[in-house]
Parts: sequence; structure tokens; C-alpha cells
Amino acid sequence: MAMPTKAQIFKHWMEWLDKRGFDWGEPCCWACKRYFDAKYDLNKPSATREDIINNWDRVPLQRCHIIARQFDGEDIPDNLFLMCKNCHDRAPNTKSREAFLDWVEKQDYTSLVQEDIMRELRTFELVDRVDDVNEMLADKELIKRFFSNSGFHMNQARGGLEITLSSIFSQIAHELKRGNNN
Ligand SMILES: [Zn+2]
Repeated sequence: MAMPTKAQIFKHWMEWLDKRGFDWGEPCCWACKRYFDAKYDLNKPSATREDIINNWDRVPLQRCHIIARQFDGEDIPDNLFLMCKNCHDRAPNTKSREAFLDWVEKQDYTSLVQEDIMRELRTFELVDRVDDVNEMLADKELIKRFFSNSGFHMNQARGGLEITLSSIFSQIAHELKRGNNN
């Protein structure tokens, strides 16, 4: 049997997603709920059910097995789940559908970002300087300069920041060290 498309997988999970408050027209990861970009939204007031379903084929989500292949998990929509790359990498490889869905319900993008920030604070030895870091993060001009220095693209969409945190934190660390020497 051929691997189902993302649209076919979405179609199977529509009611499940609806019960959990997912917006069918604004695709996000089904685990952490990370939202990608407005360009994947279905901005079409006259959209049919079919348009809504087919739109999911465009989204950069991965098709993940619930019961892993190595445990004879099948390539059918009921055993497949759409997730971002990060969640796919971290998801349990399990024989238990229940354990997988239990893990899914506990994912949360905000706390994942917080963990990532904590890791960068440790990397750049800034844990003791959280107040200074916060002050810098609140300085829009400074952040704008950090962004332009890094030469990446800033996407203002919800959760759609296409940068690595380390690019910013390395500059914060540099700036704070420079401040110390003044
Ligand atoms: Zn995710």
C-alpha cells in the first residue's frame, strides 16, 4: 500500500483535531502546535471541504508513524500523524498507540522554546544575567541590529521565526561582555 498523502491523513484526523481546537485552515504541528507561516493558511472564504483538506499537502509537516514500522505499524492514515521535524525527532517509537497520543497531548511549543532559550543561556554563560538579557531582548532597536547582523530573514508570523536562537544569544553575550570591559 502506498504511503497516504498529508491531505488523506488530515482527512482521517479532522474530527480529532476539531475537538482539540485546531483550526483546519491554519496548519500547525499536531503535537507542539507550532504554527509555520501565514502562507500555508487557507485564505479563501469560499473554500470547500476538499480545498481545506488538499491545503494540508502544502504544509511542511512530516508524516510520522504512531505504531512504528519496526513494530509492524501500517502506512494507513489511522497510524500516521502530522508533526514538525522537531517533534518527529523526539516522538516515542512505540508499540502503544495510547502512549504515543499521551505524549502528543503533553507537547507545548512555548515550553519547548523556553527550554531552548535556557540551553542557550547556559551555552553562553548568561544564566546569571537573565535580567540583562531580558532588558536587551526588550530593546527593539538592538534586536533589529542583531537580526540584521545575522543576515537571516525575520518572519513576523506567529511562531514563524526563521532563525537560530544561538545567532541572537551569541551577540547578546558579546554585547554584555563588551559592556563589562567599558
Ligand atoms: Zn511540533
